[in-house]
Amino acid sequence: MWDLERDRVINGIIKHNAKRVLFQGPEGLKRDLEKEIGDIAKYFESTGRDVELILWGGSSFGACDICDMEVKHLNIDLILHYGHEELPYSKSEIPIIYIPVYYNPDREHLMGIINDINKILKKQEQFPIITTTIQFKKILREYNPIVILGCRTNINEDMAKDRNIIYIGSGRFHPLMLAYKFKKEITLYNPITRNYSKIEENDVDKFIKRRLGVISKLHLCPPKKIGVILSTKRGQCRINVFNNIIKTLREKNINYIPIVLNNISPESLIYDDIDAYIICACPRIVLDDHINYKRVILTPKEFEMYINNDFNYVFDEVFLDDFMY
Ligand code: SF4
Repeated sequence: MWDLERDRVINGIIKHNAKRVLFQGPEGLKRDLEKEIGDIAKYFESTGRDVELILWGGSSFGACDICDMEVKHLNIDLILHYGHEELPYSKSEIPIIYIPVYYNPDREHLMGIINDINKILKKQEQFPIITTTIQFKKILREYNPIVILGCRTNINEDMAKDRNIIYIGSGRFHPLMLAYKFKKEITLYNPITRNYSKIEENDVDKFIKRRLGVISKLHLCPPKKIGVILSTKRGQCRINVFNNIIKTLREKNINYIPIVLNNISPESLIYDDIDAYIICACPRIVLDDHINYKRVILTPKEFEMYINNDFNYVFDEVFLDDFMY
């Protein structure tokens, strides 16, 4: 069902003349990769080539989360990164081959998908914007979809103004991101389950109200000390955003502590005297997981809104300018 592109992997290892190869993939793929390593190792044994294949046991949240820095003292010659495509601001010091893990259903299932999508399209007055993630790009080729890479999409306000958006893929983060960004309803179609659903305008309103509520509470009870969190993950290390926040905190004379972290989790933010944290990292940490944190956590945009007393909600996005080059 998922294309792990074994031939390309084997050829890549040979081409790089790699002796130690690291396989990195998201949680849901680790078991498949463990098996894949076994099969590829057998192939190399049969050809008499001496290659050590190693599974990365840590996180792989996206192409923002490549593990070259953690393993650079281990003489790794090549990283195989599964499930994502390279991001322009997340460059590795060790050669990387990206394997997108394309969805590869059988013919009958594929025909069902095409049929379903055509039915959705027939109901639309105007041809909608079709978005997807890299895994489904191949099966959707005839619809020319806009592929969301990482947490960025090439859709702008003008494009989205009068057109519906259909998200074809699995998971809810990307369509939620689109709904929050454009403040409109998004139709979802999952090609694996062939189910439809919607993120309604009402869901978007509820989300915005909740986040504005958090900012209002900070106005009522201003934080005495703020933790400013910077991620060390290559594609989440938004150092320019972090520096700007520190500058603002200094100008406003707000007590703060900068904290640098790799994996940001509720267990890592344990400081009793800190009332709120600003997360200069993945926007999902605040948007998806804020409920799991004991203290208030804010995106950089939300902090800006707090400081400027602005209640026009702006969705946090990662931009090239966030990084230092
Ligand atoms: S920063 Fe977060 S949302 Fe963006 S690609 Fe990485 S894991 Fe995904």
